[in-house]
Amino acid sequence: MHLKTLTLRGFKSFASATTLRFEPGVTCVVGPNGSGKSNVVDALSWVMGEQGAKTLRGGKMEDVIFAGTAGRPPLGRAEVSLTIDNTDGALPIDYTEVTISRTLFRNGGSEYAINGSSCRLLDIQDLLSDSGIGREMHVIVGQGRLDAVLRATPEERRGFVEEAAGVLKHRKRKEKALRK
Ligand code: ATP
Ligand code: MG
Repeated sequence: MHLKTLTLRGFKSFASATTLRFEPGVTCVVGPNGSGKSNVVDALSWVMGEQGAKTLRGGKMEDVIFAGTAGRPPLGRAEVSLTIDNTDGALPIDYTEVTISRTLFRNGGSEYAINGSSCRLLDIQDLLSDSGIGREMHVIVGQGRLDAVLRATPEERRGFVEEAAGVLKHRKRKEKALRK
């Protein structure tokens, strides 16, 4: 099993549809500062179901949508598709090639698909979970992450742990409910 292509459209700095092709083995992404290398890694995490805005280096999930530049207006949605070569059958699905896609609309709606058929986030997580690239197994250490943890205030550090444990969203909901 290996990653074949990653297509970004309206994701962070990738306003126009951009496809990256990967060969088996190690891939290096090179480019000047601010050219979008880390955004590519963010797109990979995101399409595999990442729910933490902080992990994606944003404040809220909407921050993954192209926010516009001097010459180009903001977009209304971000879309990322990842195609995985499954000729070895590592993914428990009867296709030699599997494409997972995720779309987020600025109004908050989102869509997930496997090989073009609409599905739930849970279906994508289930599909990937046994393969070694699922939620539990894949480890992406983002640039500056270790540094951020070391410099964090105790409150921020608690936030990292809560996000990793998946309780942050519940605490936010609780805080919101208590404010009412
Ligand atoms: P470095 O070498 O410094 O790590 P990098 O190649 O990893 O740089 P990224 O962090 O991937 O760079 O890209 C940063 C750029 O992405 C910034 O110019 C930032 O403005 C842009 N960017 C991030 N989010 C969005 C967004 N939602 N809309 C438009 N541009 C965005
Ligand atoms: Mg970077």
